[in-house]
Parts: sequence; structure tokens; C-alpha cells
Amino acid sequence: MRIAEVYASIQGEGQFAGTPSVFVRTTGCNLRCWFCDTPFTSWKPEGPQVSVADLVQQVDAFGIEHIVLTGGEPLLQPDSVPLCEQLLAAGHFVTIETAGTVFRPAPASLMSISPKLANSSPLRAGSADAIRWQERHEQTRSNHDVIARLIAAAEFQLKFVVDESSDLAEITDYLAAWPQVPGHRIWLMPQARTREELAARSNWLEAESAHLGYRFSSRWQIAEFDNARGK
Ligand code: SF4
Repeated sequence: MRIAEVYASIQGEGQFAGTPSVFVRTTGCNLRCWFCDTPFTSWKPEGPQVSVADLVQQVDAFGIEHIVLTGGEPLLQPDSVPLCEQLLAAGHFVTIETAGTVFRPAPASLMSISPKLANSSPLRAGSADAIRWQERHEQTRSNHDVIARLIAAAEFQLKFVVDESSDLAEITDYLAAWPQVPGHRIWLMPQARTREELAARSNWLEAESAHLGYRFSSRWQIAEFDNARGK
């Protein structure tokens, strides 16, 4: 698998926020969100190929139960299946972080799905690369069938990145297609790549989340480490 980094830290988002975990970050993504907080896995992907056996060995060396397979988009990589199978067999709790645009039968303890809204448009990056990606991004970012299969395959949470209050209507419309999903599985997170952005959006989004019956999630990797790589 092509891997950007493997490191131990604390989960920053969603229901396991605060949990010590090993992060296996794959590189390569089929989307180009303008606000991507790991551009070294998307806009400028970097990292070597690493075998599943080597990854399992690296992960086990940390001696930590929770593993987060993230990206980039980890489900683009066929080896996500044997990696997750082996980590689960070794007794780990495996969370897969995905945008929900591609299905692969990778087993997980928790499927953490972050569907991308219209607010993710690459055009806001303002580069020639962004213009090239816009059409593909828009065609790819929302895939109801894939999300249905991911939700059916494992325990799950849905996490939405909120940039402006106007995004909330889009989330409500989106979730109308999923009436069976209870509010406690739905997390709203501020769009932020810096502590300042996180603080500014957290102020109003926490109250709006409660009002709508969803959970609010901060992003502790930004609050604590200002989005420093590998933390
Ligand atoms: S889906 Fe995730 S990794 Fe891919 S570009 Fe968007 S934020 Fe970055």
C-alpha cells in the first residue's frame, strides 16, 4: 500500500475523540477538497509502498489497541482488505476513515464516513490544478450506493465538515435520504486548518448541532497541535 505516515497520537474527532490510537495514513485520494488538511495525501501525494506484513509489524510495535486507517482515501487501496483483516485478527479495534465514495469489503470495528458537501469544491483552492479537478470532484464526491453498502457492513458514524451556517440546510437535505440513521451517529465538525478557524466556527456550530439533534465534534488534532503533521 502507498503510505504517507504511521504514527501514534490521540483521536481528534467523532465518538472516539481522546482515544490513544495508531494512525495508518494512506496516500492518494479521488477527491480534491480545497480545505484538505492532509494535502500530502491528495493534492501532492507522497509516500512509499509498504507491504501489509510490514504495516502490521509497525502497528503492533506501538502496543496500542485502537488503529485508525485513514488517508487520503484508504479504500482506494486493495490491500486495505488484508490489512484490516489481519489487524482485527490480532485483536485491534479498527476504524476506517473514508469519504464514502468507493466501496471495498475491508472489515472494520467502526466505519467513519465523512461525505463531502458542495462546500468542498476544489475551485476555492484557486489553482490550475483545482480547475482540472472540479468536474471529477463533483461527479465523485457523493455516492449514495457506496454509503449504503458501507453502513450495512459495519458500525458507523457520519461526520460532516461545516464551513458556513448555510451548509446546515444541505446536511439536512442529505440526511433526508437516511431516515434510519439516528442523530447520535451524526457528527458536525468545523471546517478548520488552524486553531483560530476552529475556535471561530466552534462557537456557533456546537449550538446548531444540539438544536438539530446531531453531535458536535471538535477537532483536537487542530486544537492541540495546530494540524502539525504526524501528531
Ligand atoms: S476526501 Fe479527505 S483526503 Fe481527500 S481531498 Fe478531501 S479532505 Fe483531503
